[in-house]
Amino acid sequence: MRDDTSEPVPEGASVPTEALAVENFVDGDFKPSASGRRLDLVNPATGEIIGSIPRSDAADAERAVDCAAHAAQEWRKSTAAQRASALRFFADRIAANAKTFAWHETQDTGKPLWLSSALDIPRAEANFRFFADLLSADQTEASVQESAVNYTLRDPLGTVALITPWNLPLYLLSWKIAPALAMGNTVVAKPSELTPQTATLLCHAARDAELQGLLPVGTIQVVHGYGAEAGEPLCTSSRIAALSFTGGTQTGARVAALAAPTFKKLSLELGGKNATIVFSDRIMGSEDLRRETVGQVLRAAFLNAGQICLCGSRILIEKCAMPTFLREAENQIKDWTAGDPLDSQTRMGPVVSAPHRDKLLGAREAARKEGADLLEAPIAASAPARGFFVPATLITGLPHTSALVQSELFGPIVTVHPFEDENAALELAHQSRYGLAASIWTSDIQRALRLSAALDVGMVWVNTWLYRDLRAPFGGNRESGVGREGGLRSFDFYSNAKNICLATEVSRSHLTQGRVP
Ligand code: NAD
Repeated sequence: MRDDTSEPVPEGASVPTEALAVENFVDGDFKPSASGRRLDLVNPATGEIIGSIPRSDAADAERAVDCAAHAAQEWRKSTAAQRASALRFFADRIAANAKTFAWHETQDTGKPLWLSSALDIPRAEANFRFFADLLSADQTEASVQESAVNYTLRDPLGTVALITPWNLPLYLLSWKIAPALAMGNTVVAKPSELTPQTATLLCHAARDAELQGLLPVGTIQVVHGYGAEAGEPLCTSSRIAALSFTGGTQTGARVAALAAPTFKKLSLELGGKNATIVFSDRIMGSEDLRRETVGQVLRAAFLNAGQICLCGSRILIEKCAMPTFLREAENQIKDWTAGDPLDSQTRMGPVVSAPHRDKLLGAREAARKEGADLLEAPIAASAPARGFFVPATLITGLPHTSALVQSELFGPIVTVHPFEDENAALELAHQSRYGLAASIWTSDIQRALRLSAALDVGMVWVNTWLYRDLRAPFGGNRESGVGREGGLRSFDFYSNAKNICLATEVSRSHLTQGRVP
């Protein structure tokens, strides 16, 4: 699945103009937080407050866990066919309302409407459909011994907690909810406080699924609010059997420490500072190849305003190709002019919040003070004045040890570094505490294979980026996370494997003779 390559611009699409009413979804119903407190919801493209969400706390989280634990008793008895039907219901609902989902995703995140329409929403639909199909195709593991047959059951865990970030809100939530439900679990989800709307649309679908008897009431609970208030009680709850967290590395460390005393299963998908490794054969050969390569390298840097954990934020270029690369990048970077996400010509929108914008603009200033050169795209004159826009920026001249290179900025600001040869490229790629992903750009397949094998990361792309097979493992090494999700690995995470050893006739005779093989 090539995630964003088609760019269907929903010209004249009929879209809602208001933010949704956002409430917690608990016990099959929409409810405010117990305290009645609320948080503002802000549109990053305009800087305007467009609504509010419940500011939930431990009381809300515990109520949601109660209801989910109750529903788990029933849902664990469902058949694979019933679970697959429920998942397909969500996929169909998303497909039928794709424009509405896309519009609310754009309103929360600021990402261009074409990107929500081409990447986030189709992928959320695909997640539900994929895990429904996988459930239908999943086979029981079995092994035959001389006197016994062993087979493996996947037992539901009970209730699982899912904590997700703002950059790909529905995409990542559905990546967790679908396999969790498929394995017979109920869920309590805590979406990012910045991007609650598509989770709310999903709750409307969940309510309809419950009304139609496809899911027991309480199978899905969603609690909104700050992580420290609504998320931490889920980490510490002894009734949560597993926690899947996607977010920053620092938050991940806190979440892991809170979760440890209750021995819950833990999946951590954390930050990244991914290397894009470009060899001269892709730059110094034909003009078409150079254009294509530089275009893809910039796409890996700036898609979703650089706010994808997989973005290539450290561009490593073979030294002899550096001047040519930079000339081509100068031609192309204006394609990444930041602008109004509702304008069909906009390739890059604002970043998600005012504090995030300020952090990124501060990083640009720090780079200037360190003596770096900045190559940047403009901000469109038509971009709303109070939106949180940051220019797409390529920084050259910083040492690779600089704090700006070593820390995850998570925005449209990337650094470029020369390397002499393959070994030096590998050494630079590994000069990072993260180990999520890398991409390699070369026509030399042997070199690509050598480097791919040597890189200490969870995912490597060769001459492509963000091309995903949902069956493939997803996850990072070192400070980029713990564990893998994707395909059957997600089923492994959201279930407990149970071995059943069934004695055959022969073994019974062994037992009567006192011989146990
Ligand atoms: P974040 O860590 O600030 O928040 C993520 C989620 O955790 C949010 O729902 C937040 O409310 C919640 N949270 C915050 N503090 C918490 C606490 N103490 N206890 C429980 N929950 C808490 O991350 P973010 O700013 O929303 O997202 C950006 C980060 O996510 C980046 O670092 C990015 O690399 C990472 N990310 C990683 C992947 C991946 O698959 N590896 C994917 C997307 C994003």
